[in-house]
Amino acid sequence: MEAFHSPLAIFPRGFETTRLYWSTRYTNKRCYYHCQIGEVNVKPEFTVRVVEQGHDDLVLVGGTPKAVWEKVLEPISRLRKDANMLRLFPDYVRSEDMFGLTVSAVRRIIESLPGADSCHNYTFRFGRHLLMELPLAINPSGCARCEPRVPFTLNTTSTSKSFQSTVTGDLNAPYGKQFVHSKSSQYRRLRSEWKNNVYLARSDIQGLGLYAARDIEKHTMVIEYIGTIIRNEVADRREKVYKAQNRGMYMFRVDSGHVIDATLTGGPARYINHSCLPNCVAEVVNFDKERSKIIIISSHKIQKGEELTYDYKFDSDQDRHKIPCLCRAQNCRKWMN
Ligand SMILES: [Zn+2]
Repeated sequence: MEAFHSPLAIFPRGFETTRLYWSTRYTNKRCYYHCQIGEVNVKPEFTVRVVEQGHDDLVLVGGTPKAVWEKVLEPISRLRKDANMLRLFPDYVRSEDMFGLTVSAVRRIIESLPGADSCHNYTFRFGRHLLMELPLAINPSGCARCEPRVPFTLNTTSTSKSFQSTVTGDLNAPYGKQFVHSKSSQYRRLRSEWKNNVYLARSDIQGLGLYAARDIEKHTMVIEYIGTIIRNEVADRREKVYKAQNRGMYMFRVDSGHVIDATLTGGPARYINHSCLPNCVAEVVNFDKERSKIIIISSHKIQKGEELTYDYKFDSDQDRHKIPCLCRAQNCRKWMN
């Protein structure tokens, strides 16, 4: 699928659309542009057939939507300039739009096509194929052999989505009571509304991932990392047991002595993948008279359909087994530890 998408659109083979747009021959006329996406040598081929009364059809071909629409937009731009009309700036016309690939209804259908999931650079607007709503399955495919193999290391900092190390945030810090108050009211809302924020789907990074089910503003509580708080010694013991049972482990380090184990009792937040360029942070929030909570909070504005990520902040350790990072961010550190 590599060649069949851009960050803005997916290019399904066999896609056809017709656009009524300015003529390249007459200043005040419009004509039909029949657009098609075909395939040649495992690459998409974009065709625009210009249909104008009184003229033979003109067939334009290009390897990208831009390449083919340039052949239309440039002459229109020249024509309008020569006629002293309002200028057209071809650079600002998005050729994916000209093909109709970004129309909401079209996009929704294209995103649901088989194979759309493997368009790595494309930002989904309506979400990937939804696998399940709120899973608690240890291995969602139902078969441990289908799940990605996870490199194990012991000693309370390890494995794919487990043992995320110490996180940011401390409410004793300089915000005072009012901040605590607003945090706790945000948290109350989160407990009833978090299901509207996320959905689970196959991830490009690894295994399953959690995605934004709606546009999310910066600094919003997205989901709580739920699990059982246990001491390091218990975590070590459990890790051995899980390993012997060939389970995927999901543990999150709260502080130097404690870990949240989400392996058997966790919620979907445990599926959030690591990224070196994350859109969320994991914050330990202490509310009055309550145990610490780990809340995943957006650090940027997040678009619906974006995968949620945060930095696991694993300790770097040369001696232990290195865990490769698959986040594909421009600044990727290549290793998670
Ligand atoms: Zn990375």
